[in-house]
Amino acid sequence: MLLFIFSTTWAQQQYRREVKPTKNVIVMIPDGTSIGVVSAARWYQIYNNLGGNNLAIDPYLCGTVKTFSSNAPIGDSAPTTSAYMTGMPQQTGNVAIYPVADPANDLIPVDPAMAYQPLATILEAAKYQQNKATGLVVTVEFPHATPADCSAHYYARGKYPYIASQMAYQNLDVMFGGGNSIITDDIKQYFKNTGTTLIQDDANTFRNFKGKEKVWALFCDREHPYDLDRDDTQIPSLAEMTEKALDRLSQNENGFFLMVEGSKVDWSAHGNDAVGCITEYLAFDRAVAKVMDFAKKNGETTVIVLPDHGNSGFTIGRRDLKSYDKATKDQLFKNVSQYKKTGEGLERILLKTDPSQFKSVFKEYTNIDLTEEELNLLLSSKNYKHESDYMKVSNSVNMASSIINIMNAHTYFGFTTGGHTGEEVFLAAYHPNGDLPIGMNTNTEINQYLFDAMGLKTSLAEMTSEIFAKHSDVFKGLEYSIDKSTDFPVLKVKKGKNVLTIPAFKSVAYLNGKAITLNSVTVYIDKNDTFYIPRSLASQL
Ligand SMILES: [Zn+2]
Repeated sequence: MLLFIFSTTWAQQQYRREVKPTKNVIVMIPDGTSIGVVSAARWYQIYNNLGGNNLAIDPYLCGTVKTFSSNAPIGDSAPTTSAYMTGMPQQTGNVAIYPVADPANDLIPVDPAMAYQPLATILEAAKYQQNKATGLVVTVEFPHATPADCSAHYYARGKYPYIASQMAYQNLDVMFGGGNSIITDDIKQYFKNTGTTLIQDDANTFRNFKGKEKVWALFCDREHPYDLDRDDTQIPSLAEMTEKALDRLSQNENGFFLMVEGSKVDWSAHGNDAVGCITEYLAFDRAVAKVMDFAKKNGETTVIVLPDHGNSGFTIGRRDLKSYDKATKDQLFKNVSQYKKTGEGLERILLKTDPSQFKSVFKEYTNIDLTEEELNLLLSSKNYKHESDYMKVSNSVNMASSIINIMNAHTYFGFTTGGHTGEEVFLAAYHPNGDLPIGMNTNTEINQYLFDAMGLKTSLAEMTSEIFAKHSDVFKGLEYSIDKSTDFPVLKVKKGKNVLTIPAFKSVAYLNGKAITLNSVTVYIDKNDTFYIPRSLASQL
């Protein structure tokens, strides 16, 4: 059934290019990046002499990607990268899991019988089939949608405890990003047991790390600050983390799979923060430069760079720019170039600022002279609690949103929405033999390209049926029960005197109390009261 479903998705009926397999595959995702942001970032780089007329992606741009959910043309981060990773478009919230059928709206064939089936990812295939090293580098908390899509399975992206545990038990060689508050005692103990180094909020130790063991380095309780607001002595850039990941992963003689996410272009776009969008994209682009340097020197590495979806309808030019064809580069890019913080970064400063200093501080960071009206707007922000005579009746918005509105009023960037958008996204790629995914690719064709570039032999559908089999099939005829008294359910199976215990969201089972290491994670879905586990576990009893 599984094979049937996968072979009838429209992607695989189309022309399939020849792609020579390479030892390493790197996927880079600037989350929620519409092409307008890339264009503005390029002009900003030129205008400010930040390094040439081109972005790092420019020589490698080769096509576009049509990215969508299983039942909606505009996707959420969870299903969109899940489609790249598994080959199956999914629904909002789904992390590498087969969607529930929505017959009236489904854009592809969806088999109702397969709802909630965890689907093997490219990262899991690299590890499981080829013993490659695996790594994830992001600037948000590690169980956030995009990294989760590569390495965990659940129908709801917000269920961090389940997703974080799977990511820890996935035995990744490298995990760099945020999310210290999400690390549990169980995860710490597992890292100790497996010789995984955990570096927390310690840039020096991270920078000096030269080990060959598995390594997690996390900065901040949740997400990293925006790159423009980042303190480099405390938190490494995406480019630095990426370079470190390449150093570590390239020591594996079987090669590696790495996913790098420019996570917060999307967040700036949601907030309609133009300078945030531009500088977050540029921080991502600097990571692309590191990766392309590595790939070209290495000669055995495929790289693809593509957003997961558009966001905000960002444009250069908007309704109040009447003589758009006479607008100079100064008119378009001078003011934004003087913004030294994002709206959020400036808010953090202003929330601690005495009202009497507001105008001068605002000027210092933006070169904007606040009007009295703007000043009053800021002072009456919902989240401004300064004790003084200036306190006004709160307005309904936080200060960052008013700051962004003021900053945007001095530019000509347009936004049509604070949400995701459904246009195609750019595609850039490097392959040592020039076997590129040119033209318009669907999200599932991207999965096929990654599969081919990796030289995988067993289809993801077959692998899915091997490592994520239903417990009722694996232990047919045996006595089993599911203990749901704890937050992580446990499957217990009896045969004669033997008891096999399988906790959910980990990669370990216990035969009569003795640990058995699994090569993949276990998943429990409450909706159908089912454990998804390696088929090979049947032979343990
Ligand atoms: Zn996204």
